[in-house]
Amino acid sequence: MTNTITAPEISTDIKTVMQQSAKAFDEYKRLPGSAKASFLEEIAAQIELKREQLVAIANQESNLPLARLNGELTRTTNQLKLFAEVIREGSWVEAAIDEADGTRTPARPDIRKMLVALGPVVVFGASNFPFAFSTAGGDTASALAAGCSVVIKAHPAHAQTSLLVYEAIQKAIAASGVPEHTVQHVEGKSNETGKALVQHPATAGVGFTGSFAGGKALQAYSNEREKPVPVFAEMSSINPVVFYPAALQSNAAALAQQYAGSITLGMGQFCTNPGLLLAVKGQALDNFLALLSTEIKKVTPQKMLHSGICQAYNKGLHEMLEEKGIDVLAQSEQKPEGLEAYPTLAKVSAATFLDIPHFKEELFGPFSLVIECSDMDELKQVLLSLHGQLTTTAMATQDDLSSYADVLELQKTLAGRIIINAAPTGVEVCAAMVHGGPYPATTDARFTSVGTSAIKRWARPLCFQGFPDALLPPELQQANPLGIVRIFNNKYVAPAK
Ligand code: NAP
Repeated sequence: MTNTITAPEISTDIKTVMQQSAKAFDEYKRLPGSAKASFLEEIAAQIELKREQLVAIANQESNLPLARLNGELTRTTNQLKLFAEVIREGSWVEAAIDEADGTRTPARPDIRKMLVALGPVVVFGASNFPFAFSTAGGDTASALAAGCSVVIKAHPAHAQTSLLVYEAIQKAIAASGVPEHTVQHVEGKSNETGKALVQHPATAGVGFTGSFAGGKALQAYSNEREKPVPVFAEMSSINPVVFYPAALQSNAAALAQQYAGSITLGMGQFCTNPGLLLAVKGQALDNFLALLSTEIKKVTPQKMLHSGICQAYNKGLHEMLEEKGIDVLAQSEQKPEGLEAYPTLAKVSAATFLDIPHFKEELFGPFSLVIECSDMDELKQVLLSLHGQLTTTAMATQDDLSSYADVLELQKTLAGRIIINAAPTGVEVCAAMVHGGPYPATTDARFTSVGTSAIKRWARPLCFQGFPDALLPPELQQANPLGIVRIFNNKYVAPAK
């Protein structure tokens, strides 16, 4: 079902959509992991069949280059296949079994636990990833893998792309025989649509990537409900990078090239964009900044995702550069036109940075702020003052890491992912990835929105006490018919091969 909903119809239409989602959930959740896995693989196959058309439309709607969109589409289908693998294998449910013990006083009953699907999930498509974080992106793939039905709120910046992906999903629904309303698609012309979706009583969870204001609003809507639900919002991060002294001394030219690329990649429209560069003042930093400035000047401005994001960047950049004590180090030699962004590198002293809270806010685009610290102690004060982040990076030699182990320890408290000697902009989809972090990077630092652990957001633990074996789900039955890894009487047990 595709709905373009106007204000007066919102409550009625959303009611229908959510009721259908709840009904589909009741059936879909009972399907075996293998059936859900085949459904995810079929979505991937159907998307692949439309690749050329999808990439062309996404290119028109988002201004993203074809090569990037092709790569993102491959990432999206691989992500669906990866979740299919996880649920076909089955151990993700964290099955734990504590057998009854009649010899104990009082006797211990038989107690078993596993993760079960949460319920209908509302997914807000993100503007900066029309495939990988949108209609059939990571939130949808992980929620379907967990056994949840999904209602997608399309992002208006790429509504046609979203619709086309949804058509691929609909074909997969028909081919796989899963309930018709397992996935539904909603377009809305105002925030009221999103509000109504979050606040409908059938909604059991929400996935979002976007602005801090947007994520905060969705969480507030949930908290207004009679029964609040988890809102997993990924909101804002400036991804501080610490250039340790010896690394800066020994490797300035390579670092400058690497970081000019990372700061301006996708015109800065990555949630892991390195927005803050920290280092101790001196000749080595001056040399590095001269090289980095040369690289930034060479970057050609490119179009941003949509006019709203471009206006927000221009306004934010203007306001940032108006702050006291800020020096512009470099901007592209080629002036931007229309929707193009202006790549910019600026610098403030640590004392000024600590004084002005505005510097800690995300400026979504190709902008990075250098914080010049008088010594490593002041650099630590800056780290201590920062909000929660998705990533933090240490560009450091072995000697740096030994000499400043306390700085590295401090970095670990800041973010969901700590990186040594790479740019933060690449995010691998794998079991070990954490794309999350303390507030306001996300609303819940215990979870990730990228990688196979993202499935855990859409599940809750359910304990079965005293159940006869035949009434237990197969994951918890004594004979372990699915052959999954379980905790059996307090020990991890792998199935016999
Ligand atoms: P956005 O404004 O947060 O919107 C994202 C989605 O959330 C849209 O579907 C929007 O619905 C919905 N939404 C936002 N506020 C809402 C509210 N109060 N009530 C109900 N729904 C709401 O993000 P955007 O359009 O992608 O970009 C705007 C800014 O967000 C950017 O300039 C950038 O600063 C930031 N951003 C950050 C990241 C990141 O990864 N950190 C990614 C993308 C964007 P409607 O369609 O109804 O407006």
